[in-house]
Amino acid sequence: MPVSLVTPSEDSVGPYNRLSASQVNAYRACPRLWFYEKVRRFKMPQIPVLFVGRAVEEAICRMLMESPALLVSKASSDTLSAIPLDETGVPSRSSLDPWPAERLLALPKNLQPQNLESLRQWAIGRLKVHLHLALNSMKEEWKKDERRAGDWKSVNPDYCLKMCVNGLEFHLREVQRCLDQNGGPGLKEWRKGARPEWPAPDARRYKLSNQHPLSQQEGDVTLIEAWEITRPWFVDPNAGKFAMNAIHPEHWFQGEYDLIYRWDGRINIVDLKASVGRGDRSGNYVEQLRMYAMLWWITHEKKEQVDALEIWYLGANSIKSIACPTVSEMAGMESELESMWHQIRETTPMLEDCPPNPSPVRGFKDGGVAIEAPDEVRCTRCDWASVCPGGQGDDDLPVGGLVRLPGTPTDIDITPLGELDPRMTFVGEVFSVMGVKEGHRPRITISQGNHFAKVILLVDQHQDGEPSWPQNIAKGDRVKLDKVIPTANWKGEIELKVDPHACIVPASDDEVGSDLMEFRARWNVAGRLIYRFEKRGVGRNGKEWHRKGAMILDATGAMKIEGWANDWGAQYDLAQIGDTIVVANLGLDAWAVEVRGNISQNTKFQIIERVQRD
Ligand code: SF4
Repeated sequence: MPVSLVTPSEDSVGPYNRLSASQVNAYRACPRLWFYEKVRRFKMPQIPVLFVGRAVEEAICRMLMESPALLVSKASSDTLSAIPLDETGVPSRSSLDPWPAERLLALPKNLQPQNLESLRQWAIGRLKVHLHLALNSMKEEWKKDERRAGDWKSVNPDYCLKMCVNGLEFHLREVQRCLDQNGGPGLKEWRKGARPEWPAPDARRYKLSNQHPLSQQEGDVTLIEAWEITRPWFVDPNAGKFAMNAIHPEHWFQGEYDLIYRWDGRINIVDLKASVGRGDRSGNYVEQLRMYAMLWWITHEKKEQVDALEIWYLGANSIKSIACPTVSEMAGMESELESMWHQIRETTPMLEDCPPNPSPVRGFKDGGVAIEAPDEVRCTRCDWASVCPGGQGDDDLPVGGLVRLPGTPTDIDITPLGELDPRMTFVGEVFSVMGVKEGHRPRITISQGNHFAKVILLVDQHQDGEPSWPQNIAKGDRVKLDKVIPTANWKGEIELKVDPHACIVPASDDEVGSDLMEFRARWNVAGRLIYRFEKRGVGRNGKEWHRKGAMILDATGAMKIEGWANDWGAQYDLAQIGDTIVVANLGLDAWAVEVRGNISQNTKFQIIERVQRD
């Protein structure tokens, strides 16, 4: 099965602590690189090509999902998108709502493709419709990204379409093979309406009650049937993000397959790459697919192995076949990855546990063909070279203590980043609940004696799947606000934020929590400047907004700091990557495991040590 769902109460690891192929590849490339990106959460510059790959994949999947017997080539892109989803974002097994494909009658025969060429033209038409929208939505996402880099003008829509068409051609080879094999071994069952537990997404429900509506009773397989039968499994593009992973039965590893072909009784896992396959990264894709083969084997009780692994390099118009690992190789991989999980995910390693120890750069040419390794070291192109000892940086990082800022008479106390705890637990009485009738998240105010705080509900559910607040919450209830994030808004009012790591639950009479007045609103921190970022936009009121930010690192942690552009002061623009800076009078905020800083008018951003460059 391509998907294995875990019941949250039985999940011994949790969705954020699993190992993934990208984590394994990053750690093997360089433990320090992994530490910076996965533990300290440094985000590499987000160039358009990273978004283009997702747009190309989405266009291909949306096209594959559709049927030339139901939609004309110019049909609206969202004809099949209203899939009933369950509360976790997975296409629903129990919903009684109609599925989009069930609402459509088959087109008259003269409007359906009659041969492979007209099928190709239909599919290209669908790719054009979907790609245009997918690229537009990726462009918006890229524009909003605070680490946006590069220029969207570098994206060539014609080249993107070419990559999609290359993917289509690879799929049409499967359709042709299916025609040649008269539908393959499953034709009869498919015609009767039999479907695997996880059918290929086609906007129909999991189980059909009668024969397949696009099948014919008997005779040779038709072109339309071959299109339907060969459709690979992929994540339904309408499903929730990360909702459809395959997860190791012991929960410590997960992966999300791109395409799985299985119509001919063989299992072929395909990874789509919107690239030509040049350079070191192509080595990662080989390892990724080998790990997926292992995951398939393990999630099938070690009784079923994949038959083929392929990387489709859409930019090079070539397929790279990867040799499937043997059972003993997969067993070895499993135990190696499990040890890696214990080492880097079960508990969080420290900086010194992750040495700047890059692996040699590998060489690949177009199509992911291995060539002699280039004469270069990984650090040369690494995004973190200016702060890492492998490049021009060092590990002699700030660690809190007393600092005197220029022009001030007294020292200020700097808190190490790793010691900042933005969460507190309060017990209080519900003073008011508003907005419930309108079907919104309630607006709750809490009181503790004469002190009040507003509750800001940012989510509906705690990460363990429980509701974020009692559904019948009412004025006068005594409640515990567990691990909420207290902040002060611009009016000086206390706000208690509820994110996926916080929740409100009924409190017993003897339960006690912190005093609202114990909340410390301002902190002083110091660290190396890793990068700056900015975001601009237009608010609902039509006014433009502009925010700036910085990522800083000390010996104990890292922190993303954000604030309105005008509040940063001149030193922000003068600071260079690698400078040591102090941020005094900073508000604390958080989202899940990430601790963040909020700049205000009273915050001071000061360079205290300039980076030395040769
Ligand atoms: S600069 Fe070199 S050692 Fe440092 S993280 Fe990058 S690859 Fe690793």
